[in-house]
Amino acid sequence: MPDAQRGLAEQLDAADPLAHLRERFVDLPDEVIYLDGNSLGRPPAATLDRLDLEVRSVWARELVGAWEHWLDLPTDVGDLLGTTLLGARPGETVVADTTSINLYKLAWAAVAARPGRGTVVTSADNFPTDHYVLQGICAHQGLQLVTVPAAAEGGPDLGALERAIGPDVALVSLSLVDYRLGALTDMRTVNAQAHASGALVLWDLSHAAGAVPLALAADGADLAVGCTYKYLNAGPGAPAFLWVRGDLHATLTQPIWGWFGQRDQFAMATEYEPEPGIRRFMVSSPPVVLLRAVEAGVELLGEAGMERLRAKSLALTGMLIDLADAWLRELGFEVVTPRPEARRGGHVALRHADARRIGRALIEKAAVIPDFRGPDILRLAPVPIATRFVDVYDALARLRDLVRNGEHLDVEVTGRVT
Ligand SMILES: *Cc1c(COP(=O)(O)O)cnc(C)c1O
Repeated sequence: MPDAQRGLAEQLDAADPLAHLRERFVDLPDEVIYLDGNSLGRPPAATLDRLDLEVRSVWARELVGAWEHWLDLPTDVGDLLGTTLLGARPGETVVADTTSINLYKLAWAAVAARPGRGTVVTSADNFPTDHYVLQGICAHQGLQLVTVPAAAEGGPDLGALERAIGPDVALVSLSLVDYRLGALTDMRTVNAQAHASGALVLWDLSHAAGAVPLALAADGADLAVGCTYKYLNAGPGAPAFLWVRGDLHATLTQPIWGWFGQRDQFAMATEYEPEPGIRRFMVSSPPVVLLRAVEAGVELLGEAGMERLRAKSLALTGMLIDLADAWLRELGFEVVTPRPEARRGGHVALRHADARRIGRALIEKAAVIPDFRGPDILRLAPVPIATRFVDVYDALARLRDLVRNGEHLDVEVTGRVT
């Protein structure tokens, strides 16, 4: 009943309390359906005004005097982000540096806080930069990095993880939503397992922040990092966030001793003595203009509300999975994202032997923008703040018709995959 289903999608859009927020983004051509907001979010229109204001009215007019209000932006925007999206308490979140750098700082700090323990644990399906950062720390400090296998449906195999966490483990470092299959791990369970052995847990929330409601403080998390250019729509190069539970601040020291982490910074002392609070995890002068982009992105998600965004996201991904089952199975596709809602992040992964060519053909011939992760995964992210139910319906119909007609077969796939 395809046409009846499109009618249903139209009804869902008509009843959607978040429908109007789609208009808040810079326009795309009508026919384009953007399903890659989990890789790079679209620019909110408000962001352009915010950046323009920051440059023309603040930087250009106030010049160096503007530092008066710029100095607290990393923690002000951090608090906005933390309380709106992470379930953080004020004073626990800062926006600074990049995800990889924040991961390095916090993983190093965690290991240093567990002297005598020689093991770090991660999962095989963690994001590459997370593997590399942990490998580097372990190589330099003579620690053992234990990589537990991924579960078939994505995320760490929780049984293997539990067996790997013992008295020698200093740190467990995982992604909450795995970047390929979109599997959501149960944070509370892993935190409890690690704490029972005295280990700290560091979560990479890059594919979770803005995609699923988070309750870091209530779920007993220790440390977290994540990026802002995916579901937070802050733009390329926007700074990442880091979160450290308040009672851990005093006991953790990060490895890059910069002047923005220094207590009473402008006393210009020559001996490093870190700030007591979250600012001790900062290093450098903040990227002020892009911090405004983070602020605008978070405000927009806050206006929607994470609970409503999650409800719509589950409805969109649920519809996507149903249509993929109905139309695409016979064309060689398999839905590889977990089906239970409690295990699903914000995107859906489809496996197909010819995924790379199909992804390219979708962009070139059908104006649908997915992304490809080798060797055989197409990721589709119907981000709830900017995607309609009819977009999901139309994107899947275009994908079906394209593959059914073999329109992907003459598409060239050379060059870099991005
Ligand atoms: C996107 C992403 C990153 C990005 O790291 P950068 O340092 O910002 O380039 C890191 N970790 C995960 C899990 C990601 O999805």
